[in-house]
Parts: sequence; structure tokens; C-alpha cells
Amino acid sequence: MPPRERSRSSRFAVALKKLSTYRKKRDFDKTAEPSGDTPVAPSKQRRFVIQKHDATRLHYDLRLEFDGVFKSWAVTKGPSLDPHDKRLAVEVEDHPLDYGDFEGTIPKGQYGGGTVMLWDRGYWEAEDPERGFKKGDLKFTLQGEKLHGSWVLVRMRNDRNGGKRNNWLLIKHRDDFVREGKANTILDEDKSVASGRSMDQIAAGKGKAPKPFMTAKGGRGKADAVWNSNRGDAAEARAANKKPASQPAKARAPAKPAKGRKAAMPEFVTPQLCTLVDRPPAGEG
Ligand code: MN
Repeated sequence: MPPRERSRSSRFAVALKKLSTYRKKRDFDKTAEPSGDTPVAPSKQRRFVIQKHDATRLHYDLRLEFDGVFKSWAVTKGPSLDPHDKRLAVEVEDHPLDYGDFEGTIPKGQYGGGTVMLWDRGYWEAEDPERGFKKGDLKFTLQGEKLHGSWVLVRMRNDRNGGKRNNWLLIKHRDDFVREGKANTILDEDKSVASGRSMDQIAAGKGKAPKPFMTAKGGRGKADAVWNSNRGDAAEARAANKKPASQPAKARAPAKPAKGRKAAMPEFVTPQLCTLVDRPPAGEG
């Protein structure tokens, strides 16, 4: 059955299966990274994001929406507008679409620990992406806020990575958006497209919250998206309720209104899940 004719729930199941590696690598009790549960807004055009990620080694994560997930590559030196540059792009596990709104800090000691900035985002297209991925030769165009024009991702033939062939090259094609040599200053545009913040501001949890792009209105987006596993309300809430936390603590605990006053509905109400216990509760009845 072609993807378009699959039911919504079966598409979701397919995406979930593709995300098993992503989920295995992360402990959602400890990181604020999305677990793939947040619904994303539908889009007729395929979306892309590039996240600048100051982890053990600085890199730029290129993510192309395809078949319900983000195909992802870690571009070690970042994209270049100079067609002479062949930038190594290491294919990594598929990421959930709600990851495309993540900006914040992954705690030290967790997978990918470090600061993440939404460096660019927009739309991409290719004539036959299915074939491009399969062949390891994907020609595509980007309509981003920083990156535009045509590009190619080519899978390298002689990859020593145990025959897995995860290494690709990201190359700019010749067009009006080429900038050669010294004019190639694209990486100097170093503010978040979602919040306007610098890496330092994001690391400090200061400044504006990122504007969502992937998730429906009222979705994620906290200026201080970080998850500390061992302290604060969040840890207590988790101790009481072992449900993996995909929302920052603040979203789960709206301020209590004064007695008898009307108040706005909270943005998010933590569902109360059943917990298996040894004995019944003590109270009457
Ligand atoms: Mn990364």
C-alpha cells in the first residue's frame, strides 16, 4: 500500500518502529528531548530543521522530514555554501518529528549531552526522495531561513564503518545561492531561527522561548528546556508517578488560583495512571 493510503494509526505505528533506536538511546526521565509523543501539525510540504549541537564535538544535525520521521545526519563541520566543500554527514538514527522544535540543553552524561540551537528550518523537496535515499544520491532543494537552493547528499562507497555505510557527503550545487571562499560566511549567522538566541543564552536557559514550527500551537517551547533528573519538583513528581516525563516541570504544575476565583484552564494536566501496589489504600470504603 502506498504511504498516502495508510491509515493515520498505521502510519504512526510505522514511525514508532523507526524510532526504536532513538528511544533506546535516551532516558526521557533525564532529558527534555521529545519522545515522539507530541502531535505535529500537518504540512503539505516536507519540513527540515538544522540543529547546531554543542556536544562532545560541535556539529550540525540536518533533519529531513520523510515518511513520518526525520531522516538525520550529523554534519561535522556544518553546511557550506561553497560547492568545493564536501562536508561529511554521518547518518544517525531517525528522529521523531517533534524533535524539530527542540532547543535547549541535554544534560551532561546523557546521550548527546550539550546545548542545542534551532539553527535553520523550513521546507525541502526532491523529485524522487525514496529513490534518492535508497541509491545514496539525494538531490534536493532547501527553502529555509538561512539555507536555500539545491544540494546533494551522496553516500560514500568505501566506508570502513563495518559495511554499514553511514557516511555521506553534503555538497552545495551551483546556483544563485553559492558563496565561494571568503564569501562563504553562512555559519557566522549564529542565532536561533526559533528564538533569536545565541548558544550561550540557550545554555543559560535565558531569553525568548523558541517559536514552534513542527508541533501544533500550544506545543513545546520553553526558554529553559533542560531536564535535571535528581532534583526539583520534577524529580518528586516522577518519584510519585513513574510515567516518562515529556513535558518540563513548569508545564505540569500550573500555579494554584486563589480560593473561589475563576482561573484559566491549565495548559497541561498530568494524567493519573494506575500503579500496581502491594495492598489496598487504608481509608474507609
Ligand atoms: Mn547531534
